[in-house]
Amino acid sequence: MSKTKSCIVCQQTDQEVPLLKFKFKGKKYMICSQHVPVLIHKAHELDSLLPGIPASEEN
Ligand SMILES: [Zn+2]
Repeated sequence: MSKTKSCIVCQQTDQEVPLLKFKFKGKKYMICSQHVPVLIHKAHELDSLLPGIPASEEN
């Protein structure tokens, strides 16, 4: 894997967009502000990127 800090979804770097750091199951990830809503509301869509992520049941 690259050492470049980039969004797990769109691969944009912190040179292009604001990135947020988070941890899941002991691993560290970066996600951009555009994709934070995906992580919050459509977590199941990230299952291939974050194996084991629980599907959210919002609204
Ligand atoms: Zn992104």
